[in-house]
Amino acid sequence: MNPQLPHHYREILLGLGENPEREGLLDTPKRAAKAMQYLCHGYQQSLEEIVNGALFASDNDEMVIVKDIELYSLCEHHLLPFIGKAHVAYIPTGKVLGLSKVARIVDMYARRLQIQENLTKQIADAIQSVTSAAGVAVVIEAKHMCMMMRGVEKQNSVMSSSVMLGAFRESCNTRHEFLQLIRSK
Ligand SMILES: [Zn+2]
Repeated sequence: MNPQLPHHYREILLGLGENPEREGLLDTPKRAAKAMQYLCHGYQQSLEEIVNGALFASDNDEMVIVKDIELYSLCEHHLLPFIGKAHVAYIPTGKVLGLSKVARIVDMYARRLQIQENLTKQIADAIQSVTSAAGVAVVIEAKHMCMMMRGVEKQNSVMSSSVMLGAFRESCNTRHEFLQLIRSK
């Protein structure tokens, strides 16, 4: 762990008017620093290392879809969580990606400071660059603690963002098929 981080958290506690010497807070700077580093561990990962060669030859050219991938991220404006689901689809052109890798790619980008729109685009671009797919679609639906716990305090609003590349952008049918598949339970 970066040895400076606990020190900074102690300063934050002081800044909030707390007493970092009281019993309940004694280990909080260390714990909070550790937690925050875990929540941002995506900075320590790279796409190459995550994919690690898990690309398999396939003559399947039908849509591959992975839906309801749990997503935990932190908004870069408030450092507060946003939590939701990602749905990812692509149309292979000779190569398919190991299934767990799709979820790990989502996680790598989610575990960085983000805004939802950029996260959606980064996931789509990564899947595209790794698979050379004929098209990639990513939809993220998430609840933002910075909206729910502060500001407008809207408890039930879900933000939805999508990025469509290639066939998903060009063909209405392909896009509709994907959107129907992620809506069906
Ligand atoms: Zn925010």
